[in-house]
Amino acid sequence: MITVNRDKCARCGGCVSVCPVSALTLTEHGIECDKKCINCSTCVKFCPVHALSLKKDEK
Ligand code: SF4
Ligand code: SF4
Repeated sequence: MITVNRDKCARCGGCVSVCPVSALTLTEHGIECDKKCINCSTCVKFCPVHALSLKKDEK
């Protein structure tokens, strides 16, 4: 699961485009991550402002 630092996020929508399973959505509140996330970290590496991080301890 991805967590989003909403203070950093520029809402560019780029992470939404790079996610291979469409787990990210840009809403009025910012980026939301849903349970389709496969923890591939593509979006974490992509984000130009490092607003995304991967939580590995769930499930
Ligand atoms: S790529 Fe980063 S800055 Fe852009 S919308 Fe995603 S989390 Fe926000
Ligand atoms: S870690 Fe991978 S699957 Fe999860 S939201 Fe980011 S790009 Fe999508």
